[in-house]
Amino acid sequence: MDPGSLDEVLPQWQCRQCGYPGCRPYAEALVRGEAAIDRCRPGGTATFLALARLLDIDPTGFTPPVPDPPKRARIDPGHCIGCARCLPACPVDAIAGARHLLHEILFSECTGCGICLASCPTDCIHLVDYPGTLRSRSPDGPVPDPCADPGHHQAVWLKYRHGRHQDRFGAEHKPGAEGEPDSREALLAEIHLMVEERRARRLTRHREAPRNPKS
Ligand code: SF4
Ligand code: SF4
Ligand code: SF4
Repeated sequence: MDPGSLDEVLPQWQCRQCGYPGCRPYAEALVRGEAAIDRCRPGGTATFLALARLLDIDPTGFTPPVPDPPKRARIDPGHCIGCARCLPACPVDAIAGARHLLHEILFSECTGCGICLASCPTDCIHLVDYPGTLRSRSPDGPVPDPCADPGHHQAVWLKYRHGRHQDRFGAEHKPGAEGEPDSREALLAEIHLMVEERRARRLTRHREAPRNPKS
């Protein structure tokens, strides 16, 4: 069987909750007979039953996975040092930012998978409850309304964003990759340097600010 047809029914969060480094690797493991059909929590019962049907497996011996309550990541602006380490961590490119600048989560794109949390050296990314659903869009623009299967369009959109992310950062981002500190000491040294740079910039701005002649 072509793993592509299994990948089609996966939610494309690329969240690794199934134990594989993304939806496509999970689909490939299913085809090889190495993975069970109940591993994808974000997909819930619908994905589980679709996999059972495509693989011609009797689902009665499994417990359908239950999705977690919807969450979104949020960055505490008071503690973000602009190190940009969270950018390559997010598999669907849901974080906006650049080095030395405050980063922001794109709520409409974030799945709440939580992968980015571990990448932040100042622990300033948190998951918060989010009662809404993900935006349903195709890469070519808004989904026509009414949409027969919003979940499918959402998956198409996330897959597109994941592809873009891979083009930008490479298929697998590891500590020690280009531009990344390869040890905790190196990371702490980098953070120290950035804090010092930020302090120096603030001091310069303060010195260069126009003075009130009466003061
Ligand atoms: S969405 Fe499902 S299949 Fe895709 S990576 Fe997450 S758990 Fe695995
Ligand atoms: S911002 Fe964080 S929680 Fe949201 S999708 Fe990206 S990695 Fe997952
Ligand atoms: S990893 Fe944390 S501190 Fe660094 S840019 Fe992202 S949110 Fe800010």
